[in-house]
Amino acid sequence: MTFIAADEGDSGIVQIFGAPYDGTASFRPGTRFGPTAIREASYGLETFSFFQGKDLEDVSFSDLGDLAEKFGAPEPMLAQVQETAELIIKGGGVPLMLGGEHSLTPPAVRAVFDRHPDVLVVQLDAHADLREEYLGLENSHACAMRRILDFLDRDSLIQFGIRSGTAEEYSELTSCGQYARTVDELRALLKDRPIYLTLDLDVFDPAFMPGTGTPEPGGIDWSTFEAILKALKDSTIVGIDVMELSPGLDPTGCSSVLAAKCVRELVLLAA
Ligand code: MN
Ligand code: MN
Repeated sequence: MTFIAADEGDSGIVQIFGAPYDGTASFRPGTRFGPTAIREASYGLETFSFFQGKDLEDVSFSDLGDLAEKFGAPEPMLAQVQETAELIIKGGGVPLMLGGEHSLTPPAVRAVFDRHPDVLVVQLDAHADLREEYLGLENSHACAMRRILDFLDRDSLIQFGIRSGTAEEYSELTSCGQYARTVDELRALLKDRPIYLTLDLDVFDPAFMPGTGTPEPGGIDWSTFEAILKALKDSTIVGIDVMELSPGLDPTGCSSVLAAKCVRELVLLAA
């Protein structure tokens, strides 16, 4: 499909788009079905958030639909994501991407960075995603944050919830000063800077989010996610993504509902 660039009048409005792609999935593919599953689950959710005391009915946002699905190598999809995020930003909007796999985050961040060079990326994830390459691919989902650090300085990336990675990733995380182990540590690292929030849903414990390709025990629960939203509530949000939902892996459908609820809260946070 073709997107129409947002008008100047849409300034600050959250604009959702789906990015159905899972071509580099290493363990269990299926995130290409994530955007559709989130939309379907959203119909069963209230528009009002008890936690934020805000209603989707009272804020402006739009859903642009899905990008054209691409198979094979990630680069054509990455280009499409960047182009779409640039169009949204050009109109003054805030892109909110529904994944799809995490490898799609770097081009969205790149588009935001070109407009907001002082952007601070907050990554919520079980995995460090700091590999230089994985299975021969430098644009693998396991390399997402490394690709962001190709253009962003180390102090502009905060990582939260990470509990899996290589020895090298662990060493980098624990020495860089940007690894938040608690919400208090995360809050302390937030500066008065615009935020790009990238939510890899496997940051949640598999008990709550089994519908993801690389589940990792020891994750956060919903109340911790609310505490993170609270920590971010005075920040300017300039970009968001919600990645790695693989709905077919959770026959109960609860993972899709959790993802949809995250999207609702993030739209309300950014609005
Ligand atoms: Mn990730
Ligand atoms: Mn992950």
